[in-house]
Amino acid sequence: MRTPFIAGNWKMNVEDADALAFIDAVKDRIPPKENVESAVCAQAVSLKDMKKRAEDTELMIGAQNVHEEASGAFTGEISAPALTSIGIQLVIIGHSERRELFNDSDERVNLKLHAALKHGMTPIVCVGESLEEREAGRAVEVVRGQLQKALEGVSAQQVDGIVIAYEPVWAIGTGKSSNPEEAGEMCKTIRSYIREQYGESSAEAVRIQYGGSVKPDNIADYLADEDIDGALVGGASIKVESFLSLLEAAS
Ligand code: PGA
Repeated sequence: MRTPFIAGNWKMNVEDADALAFIDAVKDRIPPKENVESAVCAQAVSLKDMKKRAEDTELMIGAQNVHEEASGAFTGEISAPALTSIGIQLVIIGHSERRELFNDSDERVNLKLHAALKHGMTPIVCVGESLEEREAGRAVEVVRGQLQKALEGVSAQQVDGIVIAYEPVWAIGTGKSSNPEEAGEMCKTIRSYIREQYGESSAEAVRIQYGGSVKPDNIADYLADEDIDGALVGGASIKVESFLSLLEAAS
């Protein structure tokens, strides 16, 4: 049985003082990680203090991006060793906003994934089709293509610890959540892809989140699907009570 995993993606929306106040407010109310694993992925400047503040809790603190190189002349970037040196073990890779706005190509997503794995981090790898691609009947082809490229060179042992987030681009931040049945079907397709490439035990181990306008009042519809193991949540993860309701629904 896979433990559900709810991760908040705060994007560029929460500043330091609010991030720390959030931790103080939720820390005694995080469900045990045997029931549901929980995380918030914040802006890099807050990660170190958040990590310290969350020390005695089971809430994980994650980054929203990582550079593929371990060091070097990459002004403005953040490396996996820099993240792990402050205790950050979780990172979102290939979010559609990064793919669209910051040239995170499939190849770069693959390099970032290898960098994260090499340094012992848990990556949440995002895949998902655009509305245009879905309407053209290409959603499955697009998602399988993204997976194939993202996972190139990743071993069966490594894949077991990877989290995959299926996020249809048109459902992100729009309030237009995907129909849970369609989301479940795509997550099943993703699991089948893992089964084809890595075998049954990896397919059973990999956790697949749905993301895109998940809220306390619709999360149960997604989690009811056997192939959806949790959610990557933007807007609804920022407010304390909303985040805690998501965790409660999953535990
Ligand atoms: P949303 O964002 O929940 O605000 O739609 C999801 C995401 O970008 O991961």
